[in-house]
Amino acid sequence: MDYQALADLLFPGVTERREEVEARFPRRVLPEGACVTRIGPSPTGFVHLGNLYNAIIGERLAHQSGGVFYLRVEDTDQKREVPGAVETVLDAMAYFGVRFDEGATVDGDSGAYGPYRQRQRKDIYHVFAKWLVEQGKAYPCFCTAEELDAVRAQQTAAKETTGYYGKYAVCRDLPLETVRANLAAGKPWVLRYRGETTDERICVEDAIRGRLEMPRNSMDFVLLKSDGIPTYHFAHVVDDHLMQSTYIIRGEEWIASLPMHIELFRALGWPEPIYCHTATLMKMDGASKRKLSKRKLSKRKDPELALSYYQQEGICQDAVWEFLLTLLNSNFEEWRIANPQADYHDFPFTLEKMASSGALVDLEKLENISKEVICRMSAGQVYDKWLAWCRLYQPQFAALLERYPDKTLAALNVGKGGAKPRKDLTGWKQACDFMRFYYDETFTAEEEMPAQVDEATRKAFFAGYLERYDHAADSAAWFAMVKELTGELGFAVKPKDYKKHPEDYKGSIVHTTNMLRIALTGHANAPDIWEVSHVLGEETVRARLERYL
Ligand code: GLU
Repeated sequence: MDYQALADLLFPGVTERREEVEARFPRRVLPEGACVTRIGPSPTGFVHLGNLYNAIIGERLAHQSGGVFYLRVEDTDQKREVPGAVETVLDAMAYFGVRFDEGATVDGDSGAYGPYRQRQRKDIYHVFAKWLVEQGKAYPCFCTAEELDAVRAQQTAAKETTGYYGKYAVCRDLPLETVRANLAAGKPWVLRYRGETTDERICVEDAIRGRLEMPRNSMDFVLLKSDGIPTYHFAHVVDDHLMQSTYIIRGEEWIASLPMHIELFRALGWPEPIYCHTATLMKMDGASKRKLSKRKLSKRKDPELALSYYQQEGICQDAVWEFLLTLLNSNFEEWRIANPQADYHDFPFTLEKMASSGALVDLEKLENISKEVICRMSAGQVYDKWLAWCRLYQPQFAALLERYPDKTLAALNVGKGGAKPRKDLTGWKQACDFMRFYYDETFTAEEEMPAQVDEATRKAFFAGYLERYDHAADSAAWFAMVKELTGELGFAVKPKDYKKHPEDYKGSIVHTTNMLRIALTGHANAPDIWEVSHVLGEETVRARLERYL
């Protein structure tokens, strides 16, 4: 077979040589040990938590080592593409503070190794495709979908390995004349790799999983689809070689196709990058709490698989990072306890500490981390981040925060000092709900007054309170006043006295202070009444209590 003639027949317009293409992607000049990493999302409009999970690994490896982290849009599957999807990915990554050094931008590219959208790299792939044909390592296949289905059915019936290989690869050695005639007749074709029938095995050192041993590829898999666009397999190898990725961080679902990738790197004579196959995100699920089992997060059933869920729910970006870091590195939590104030970017991330099995997405755990993260922030930082979120998702609340910046800052400082600061806020959406009572515009008394206390007593309590209330009194003097009034009205000042002899009292100080909390904030579970009153101001305090007279 004259492979050169076949190559010229298939790619008449391709004149560039592979050396010329390679010369356009010069060696990166980076410090010793620098990692080059990327994410390669497909523009389907759906950004996964897994995309961020993998992005964090790549970002950390690159930026901890003085390397490069880039974004490549893997748009070879045109059917799955939705308009605006690249923007969606970029927005989501920007929202979570993931910084790229180069790659696709909304309307173009930044960096010298582009284009960073695979469909725009068609000419590049064709140069290497043509070279493979010249070497006898690739050939055109004219089989139709129906023919391929029929072969598959035959293989399944005979309990043979399914696929295009060996004697089933009927287009392998088509005479040049047949190829020419088929092309002239306009028959669609794909370009296939010529696999070798072999029982050899290959070994790959995965940086997360260790040694992976698997059968060497023996399939004639597709390199270029009938529209000339490469498959993921071919595009991955060409791009990661030219863009000089040192680490390929991707989901474990790609392990099965690793033999094809290794085969291509070897056929093209290129060094293999280091593969890191990450664990699939899982959740605990089951019919009851006692019958929980792990399962894969599903796009259909689990809203928390979408990155947009965390944006919409206003989960603090830093909390999502810290949560993912706890999943990624088993020693992150220990480090956080030892370094409570440190920036999580200072955590020394390593691949050695990564687990290779299912990472558990536990929203309760995320909420707890979020509480800690927000609690560590200053009131000013909380204000800025909360406001930024409100501007996108709750503009009316954003307007309140902007109208009352001082009050909001004071409110955010309530319960902040001391050895045991309050951890009321778990996220920005929840903050809008929790903090609502500070603003007359959004305040509503939701909780019922304690049923224990009859109406006459309640009125007497609020009337007495308003009479004695001195807004200038310090916290201790104020509390002395509350205790006095509580006792005078027949309530136990010490809750334990009431517990011992409930028949002797109308209730305890827990009831009187709960009435105050409910009247002032709408909830019995609210921060310190004296502090809250000083944020609300005397006028508001009085107005809210007067409603009960
Ligand atoms: N486009 C692939 C995906 O979305 C990327 C895999 C890779 O990073 O190599 O799964």
